[in-house]
Amino acid sequence: RERAREILETVKDRDETRLGVEAMELLDAYGIETPTGDIVDDPADALEVAENIDGNVVMKIVSPDILHKSDIGGVKVGVENEDVYDAYEDLITRAKNYQPDANILGVQVQEMVNLDDGVETIVGMNRDPQFGPLMMFGLGGIFVEILEDTTFRVAPVSEVEAEDMTKEIDAAPMLRGARGNDPVDIGGITETIQRLSQLVTDFPAILELDINPLVALPDGVKAVDVRLTVD
Ligand code: ADP
Ligand code: MG
Repeated sequence: RERAREILETVKDRDETRLGVEAMELLDAYGIETPTGDIVDDPADALEVAENIDGNVVMKIVSPDILHKSDIGGVKVGVENEDVYDAYEDLITRAKNYQPDANILGVQVQEMVNLDDGVETIVGMNRDPQFGPLMMFGLGGIFVEILEDTTFRVAPVSEVEAEDMTKEIDAAPMLRGARGNDPVDIGGITETIQRLSQLVTDFPAILELDINPLVALPDGVKAVDVRLTVD
């Protein structure tokens, strides 16, 4: 909690409303697992990070001006070490083409999560003028707006409420192992909902927060992408 406070203070001092680099650290401070990796601002550093990660990596543009990275080709999945330089340059070029004056913070190099074994979910929070902090859970990924398979509770949520959320969505059978797939770590999802609920309860300055996707795997969950807005 102290660490989270420090992270939010630095952001406040910089007068930035959208956190880039710090968003992952904030989750980490509340015990929510994120993929290994780092955000870098030159290709040599990107390669160094990639070399320290087992297997291929995922590379993403990091900019407060680019909300939906994959819409502009700003997410590259399965990048081999020998392609890291090219991928880096290409991501920067795409971002500049999209918005020439975009504030580009760098490129995030991440461990690749095996989506074949997992389900992409979303855990988020919005402050409702009437109800206060509303926690949201649903099926995630880039089609979340189209599917609209979501459920809501007012924070802070109890363990039972968080569990109920995982049962309420239409896609609930997918979490419990449909079509011969292994069930995913539902305990990990309910814990993440609760931890996030605690975070936004502790810090009213967080106006909006989305983990999308929170990849739910048979043996754990990973917050692969996070976006947040602070007061
Ligand atoms: P955005 O939502 O801004 O387009 P994301 O970081 O959510 O960017 O990436 C888009 C999609 O790319 C994710 O929904 C997921 O399917 C895939 N993806 C992103 N990061 C990873 C990762 N580390 N491992 C595997 N797949 C990933
Ligand atoms: Mg996303």
